[in-house]
Amino acid sequence: FSEKEALKNILCADSKEIDAFTADTERLLILASHWISESLKNLSIVNQITTEQSEFSAFYRLSKRISSSLKLEEILDIAIKSCKEIVDYDIAAFIFKENQESLKVVSAQGFKAAELINKSFQAKDSIAGWVIKYDKSLLFPDIQTHKKNIIIFPGTSLPIRSLICLPLPVQDDVLGAFVMASNKDNFFSPYETKIFEVIATHTATAISNAKIYQQMERMATTDGLTGLLNHKSFQERLSGELERAERYKERVSLLLVDIDHFKQVNDTYGHPAGDKILKDVSNILASSIRGIDVAARYGGEEFALILVNTDGKGAFDTAERIRRVIEQSNFAIGSTCIKITSSIGIAVFPYDAGYLDQGGNQRLLISKADSTLYLAKKEGRNRTYLYKDVAERIEPIKMVLR
Ligand code: GH3
Ligand code: MG
Ligand code: MG
Repeated sequence: FSEKEALKNILCADSKEIDAFTADTERLLILASHWISESLKNLSIVNQITTEQSEFSAFYRLSKRISSSLKLEEILDIAIKSCKEIVDYDIAAFIFKENQESLKVVSAQGFKAAELINKSFQAKDSIAGWVIKYDKSLLFPDIQTHKKNIIIFPGTSLPIRSLICLPLPVQDDVLGAFVMASNKDNFFSPYETKIFEVIATHTATAISNAKIYQQMERMATTDGLTGLLNHKSFQERLSGELERAERYKERVSLLLVDIDHFKQVNDTYGHPAGDKILKDVSNILASSIRGIDVAARYGGEEFALILVNTDGKGAFDTAERIRRVIEQSNFAIGSTCIKITSSIGIAVFPYDAGYLDQGGNQRLLISKADSTLYLAKKEGRNRTYLYKDVAERIEPIKMVLR
């Protein structure tokens, strides 16, 4: 059809008659061939634009969804699933920097995804390591015919040919890499590669925002020294657990744990040593309860534990175990070890404070645990008291409503 471009199509005309084609017919056919050629070219451009348009709208939807999420898993999930709407890859994965030397697959979909998730490997053994180090994208039309051995997931062999590996850049750092691959060669077009580069950048920003948000959330809800929940979060959790227990007719035990004569520790060994002991005690507490229970720093050298669906007997046993572990532990301060003890007061919902809908309340429950703890201190320290067992010895409660 065309003299300038490479020959692509041929227009052929024949007739049953002899000398059917005159010079005019020939000119007409030449014109027709040019016209058809142009039309075909336009058609292919239209097709390409239509594909690009649908890819672009998928990209636009993805960008909007990604920027509206602050949850890390959700962001990775949206990115991986939405890219599948743009190209039908065989595997896609997010690889994050674990530390200076190693990388970790944090999300994957497609070939051997289950095997790959959470896999760690040396950055230098994977092409992703190079991409992250140099903050540069790599596109391989066919890794099987590439002169070098291209490895993306060390230790896992995958039947892939086309591969895109893109950095996840944020300000002055690269968080990791986004990988997509297909078992077909020349699978990703340059246009798609460009789109995925933009997606990777958007995703990186969203990941970074989610991480900052998580960090802020952690700082707002946990105690900086011990890593346990802070007082405000403790009150919120207790409120939630009491409501839940009331709904399901369950019990909740509240333990207040206070270190005995802690002031002396500070006075003798200094405040930093005191801090170290508070951390050690927090570790003991956190590792003595179940995942569904709650450990919080109530304030100073006083801790609160919420034991979900646990009655007085169960709570007393747990408290005694904790008290003995603390009593028997050697707390290291520099090269010396010191001993400490603790006192524990327990109040149980609903027995000690009543049901919420019958006038019982959270503050009353806390106040009963507090009075019980106070009595344990008064009667010698290093002991666990259960409100119900000692109620008669507690003077009409001075409501210490904090
Ligand atoms: P008791 O047996 O009656 O509980 O005596 P105690 O000395 O433990 O109680 P008191 O309430 O008199 O003193 C608590 C001490 O805890 C005083 C305070 O300096 C110390 N403390 C509170 N918070 C911290 C902290 O974050 N770090 C350190 N190192 N000490 C703390
Ligand atoms: Mg104390
Ligand atoms: Mg105290």
